[in-house]
Amino acid sequence: SDPLRLAGVARRYRTEAGALEVLRDADLTIARGEIVALVAPSGTGKSTLLHLAGLLERPDAGEVFIAGQAAGTLDDGARTAIRRNTIGFVYQFHHLLAEFTAVENVMLPQMTAGVAAGQARTRAAELLGTFGLAARLDHRPGKLSGGEQQRVAIARALANSPALLLADEPTGNLDATTAGIVFAQLLAEARGRGLAALIATHNPELAARMDRVVTLRDGRIIPG
Ligand code: ADP
Ligand code: ADP
Repeated sequence: SDPLRLAGVARRYRTEAGALEVLRDADLTIARGEIVALVAPSGTGKSTLLHLAGLLERPDAGEVFIAGQAAGTLDDGARTAIRRNTIGFVYQFHHLLAEFTAVENVMLPQMTAGVAAGQARTRAAELLGTFGLAARLDHRPGKLSGGEQQRVAIARALANSPALLLADEPTGNLDATTAGIVFAQLLAEARGRGLAALIATHNPELAARMDRVVTLRDGRIIPG
């Protein structure tokens, strides 16, 4: 089944000015191997959408399906298990753990999922090698360039072989040249693995390299 499906999703926040309906009837299906750009102005609900798709929040109405499983019926423990095993997250800022090396940062999600240290290290080293970081395995994030840090964060997101990748401005913190290079690597890996992905970006050049573009209007997801 499709790695991600949102059906009639609504999400509202209570504010001083009253209820703010960020999403009201959001539908989106992302098929296996499909890479979708989310391009919309700030404040229209991109982060809310990614948090709902990533099972970090629950919708007020509608349902989020991950690989065919209705997430609304699951308790928090089962939702966390799906987040760990089926979904990879990449953020604008890498959020690597400063006191751990690159290889350790990529080992951690695997070990949380129960993979033995030796096996996790082998896989982490392989993944980092794919991203051209074979010589940086034992560097802490503070010793890496911005582009290298972000590539480690992408390797970490892929460490548990997710079916779905969610990314919020994954290269938004990098200069244009580095962003282009890192994004090309992200895309190549996602395509090579047949991943489904939803990637929020403000960069039209990056959006144009994806399979299709969606945007948010009046709380709905429409073609961009
Ligand atoms: P984007 O990522 O597109 O900038 P967000 O999803 O972060 O948009 O936010 C959409 C709207 O919802 C904004 O107006 C924001 O201020 C509001 N919002 C987001 N989270 C909350 C919250 N927890 N409580 C109240 N309002 C929120
Ligand atoms: P853990 O104890 O394994 O960190 P969490 O529920 O905190 O369990 O996180 C599970 C997954 O959800 C992690 O892979 C993490 O990257 C992601 N995650 C946690 N918090 C956030 C957040 N605020 N925004 C996006 N993703 C998050």
